[in-house]
Amino acid sequence: MGLIVQKYGGTSVGDVERIKNVAKKVAQYKAQGHGLVVVLSAMSGKTDELIKLAYQITDEPSERELDMLISTGERITIPLLAMALQSLGLKAVSLTGRQSGIFTDSMYTKARITKIAKENVQKYLHDDYIVVVAGFQGVDESSNVTTLGRGGSDTTAVALAVALSADKCEIYTDVDGVYTTDPNVVPQARRIERISYEEMLEMASLGAKVLQTRSVEFAAKYRMPVVVKSTFKDGPGTWVVEEEADMEKVAVSSVVYDKNQAKLTVVGVPDKPGIAAKIFNAIARAEINVDMIIQNVSVTALTDLSLTVPRAEAGKAMKLLESAANEIEAKSVMIDEEIGKVSIVGVGMRSHTGVAAKFFSLMADANINIEMISTSEIKVSCVIRKGDVDRAVRILHAGFHLGGGEPRVEQAH
Ligand code: ASP
Ligand code: MG
Repeated sequence: MGLIVQKYGGTSVGDVERIKNVAKKVAQYKAQGHGLVVVLSAMSGKTDELIKLAYQITDEPSERELDMLISTGERITIPLLAMALQSLGLKAVSLTGRQSGIFTDSMYTKARITKIAKENVQKYLHDDYIVVVAGFQGVDESSNVTTLGRGGSDTTAVALAVALSADKCEIYTDVDGVYTTDPNVVPQARRIERISYEEMLEMASLGAKVLQTRSVEFAAKYRMPVVVKSTFKDGPGTWVVEEEADMEKVAVSSVVYDKNQAKLTVVGVPDKPGIAAKIFNAIARAEINVDMIIQNVSVTALTDLSLTVPRAEAGKAMKLLESAANEIEAKSVMIDEEIGKVSIVGVGMRSHTGVAAKFFSLMADANINIEMISTSEIKVSCVIRKGDVDRAVRILHAGFHLGGGEPRVEQAH
């Protein structure tokens, strides 16, 4: 029998009863003879609670200390599951990020895994232990504790699956798969059976929260099959796999939205070479993820430049842009937090024409104003007013005929 890496999310381990439930599920897999590594999140809400504590102390907590603090959520769930497994008579051991050999760079709060020293985990697997690993955390070369960004336990799981050459990585969560859009906004949304890495990667980076973007990058790069399933309800889930021939049949496979972005505009930028480089270098050095960029060709000597960033990083980006604006003698920097982004994704866009045109027509018919546009081979994305997002999602989902199945049955939580 092979090796499986399973990950259980925050709601799956949200209280003691649920942890016992996870232990029972894990025990069943173990009984089938699989080697098992189980990666856990913190109890749902725990990481937010810890972040709040930090901000009760100071408005600008040191990121090193923040990581030290927020990594503790996972330290609570892993020994509890190990104990639950032991009380079922199984051999189990809990390991921190460090004890699992997960090394990262030093970019606190969004560190990247650089290396996995897998010997310790392998030793326990060899001795037939169920290895319970704290998700979301690692250490840098100087033994500082780091975290992998919100939702980072997914990445721990996929990276471990790759490092250990597991047969597959199973992500257990509170929904029974990846949907054509958020069922809370569109009750007719359908579970997708199989989706390509590329589409899932776009969906994750465009705001679908079911998998952390980096976990999909890992899976895609190393062709690790990932399945997203519900902890609370048996079912086939959604497989994230290599592209298959019939995936291109439909032009659009999902509608994704993101209400957690902000738009920053540098006003009155001198129109000359080297200016954009100065602006974006400032932001890149702080590792802030810029999403969309718009610059108009100027008719005067001045132009405006707008970009979008995750709202959580808008304050930091604003400061950097203000000092860059000063340096390049731009007039001012404006921030707009009332934006939202809607996107359609599908590998079928490669072979279907007129998809973007249809997107824009649907928005036009609904009188929704498009403020920024960005496209790739397999996506079209627009920035609109935040208040229009839900309506846009419903219109796109219906307009591209993504519904059809039974409305989703409510989950156990
Ligand atoms: N506990 C972390 C978070 O809430 C990591 C995770 O759950 O994947 O973001
Ligand atoms: Mg998650």
